[in-house]
Amino acid sequence: MALRNILKEGDPILNKVSRNVTEVDDRVCALLDDMKETMYAADGVGLAAPQVGILKRVVVIDIGNGVLELINPEIVCSTGEQYEVEGCLSLPGISGITERPMNVQVRALDREGHEVMVTGTGLLARALCHEIDHLDGILFRQRVTEYCEG
Ligand code: ZN
Repeated sequence: MALRNILKEGDPILNKVSRNVTEVDDRVCALLDDMKETMYAADGVGLAAPQVGILKRVVVIDIGNGVLELINPEIVCSTGEQYEVEGCLSLPGISGITERPMNVQVRALDREGHEVMVTGTGLLARALCHEIDHLDGILFRQRVTEYCEG
């Protein structure tokens, strides 16, 4: 495993749309391992592959109760709304309130290439939406309704 460099806002890669993974192979698993290590080292709750310069639809999330490794994640259902403070490893020092759904259901592949369904509420729903946004080249700044001080 290896730490990867996290790209910061202003890098054009962060605004690009990532490609679907067509085959879950050793390279994708190595990418997942590196992304987990990088996320934990940076004390983040999620990381998307474009943040480490790889335009593939791969994300890792850990809100404190175990890691989720999602390949080609897609939101299939979202309900409700929440307005909470959000931040991003690619925008250090910036936080703001965003509107997100309260509940989401996401379909993805796991590292074995099997389809999985993940249901997220609250913080997990927000993290899923935030990371999937990265795969579409969207930074949370585009969703901020109000910036926080400091
Ligand atoms: Zn982010």
